[in-house]
Amino acid sequence: MTADLLVRNARPMGGDPVDLVIRNGRFDTRDGVLPKEEIDATEYIALPGLVEAHTHLDKTLIGMDWYENRVGPTRNHRILADRQAKRALGIDARRQSARQILQTLPFGVLAIRSHVDVDTEIGIANIEGVLETREALRDLVDVQVVAFPQSGMLPREGTLELMDAAMRAGADIVGGIDPATIDRDPVRHIDAIFALADRHSKPIDIHLHELGELGAFCLELIIERTRALSMQGRVMVSHAYCLGMLDAARQQGLIETLVAERIAVLTVGSPAMPALPLRLMRQCGLTVASGSDGIQNTWEPWGNGDMLERAKYLAQRNGMTNDADLAETTRICTFGGAEAMGLEGYGFGEGNAGDLVLVPARALAEAVALTPSKRTVIRRGRVLVRDGALAEDLPPIA
Ligand SMILES: [Zn+2]
Repeated sequence: MTADLLVRNARPMGGDPVDLVIRNGRFDTRDGVLPKEEIDATEYIALPGLVEAHTHLDKTLIGMDWYENRVGPTRNHRILADRQAKRALGIDARRQSARQILQTLPFGVLAIRSHVDVDTEIGIANIEGVLETREALRDLVDVQVVAFPQSGMLPREGTLELMDAAMRAGADIVGGIDPATIDRDPVRHIDAIFALADRHSKPIDIHLHELGELGAFCLELIIERTRALSMQGRVMVSHAYCLGMLDAARQQGLIETLVAERIAVLTVGSPAMPALPLRLMRQCGLTVASGSDGIQNTWEPWGNGDMLERAKYLAQRNGMTNDADLAETTRICTFGGAEAMGLEGYGFGEGNAGDLVLVPARALAEAVALTPSKRTVIRRGRVLVRDGALAEDLPPIA
């Protein structure tokens, strides 16, 4: 019997060394398997694929000319600038999504959830572009596409119908955004996206930037509809800054309700917004994921998509410095994201996808603190990146 790969002395999540065998693209613990190839992982820690649970693949300007950002400070300024840039710069969602995916592959990002704009100017062209990329790069990364009404939904007539068209075209998840402050009609916005998700039997992932009690009110509307439609385990709330702004009893109560309805929360650890109570959220058993959000686009000029660096940002935003806390932020950027995205066969168990990221570090905390670059990335038993260098048979960046 022949295996694709034997990884000797791998330390899953920084634990004790084990030999990992990958056969036919899956972990296989059976004895007597002769490998085609062996890797010695003694100097590394082993992670399953890093999980980018929230980004915008269709907006990145990676590889394009420098965008001189003259955008005003509010979210509405940024939404307008974003829409204008699409026209003026000719941002090609197919090409740009491929660039971002190939840029983050050497970090070990093997699963991505991307919100993709749907609006009355571009229709579903960006959805189609990112779906094309997903198909072209399917051997390298798993991509989930969220139909995202970035410019608002109800006030811009025709957007809801385009969202429906996006779902029919192959989008995986129904998105939404700030039902009170952008659409200014939270009940109708949330009813509309849940109805769409119900009609297509798809999950929901909603951007909720709304602050304080207004955000909490919208969160409660989301919770009520999740319960009413039995969508437990299929709803994610992205950002949910309101959770970091409530008094302790209200905070705890909402978190426990989110846990009971198995609603996941995504946080990027934004330095400009209220910090979420990360320790409490994890102690209560909430599924917490993380992501880069925008990378080098008209919203934010920075970002490289490294989810280990994101784990560091989460730690810094929450005043975490000890090894156990840094290990926890790594779990958010791996298992937390996988659970929130509903990835099947994730992790090191027998029969699971044979994906590994080997990071040259002595402990998870060191991997987070120093984010070493010379990683080896294995997907379904195939070495895609060796010590930071892309394998030669990978597609060139367009
Ligand atoms: Zn976002």
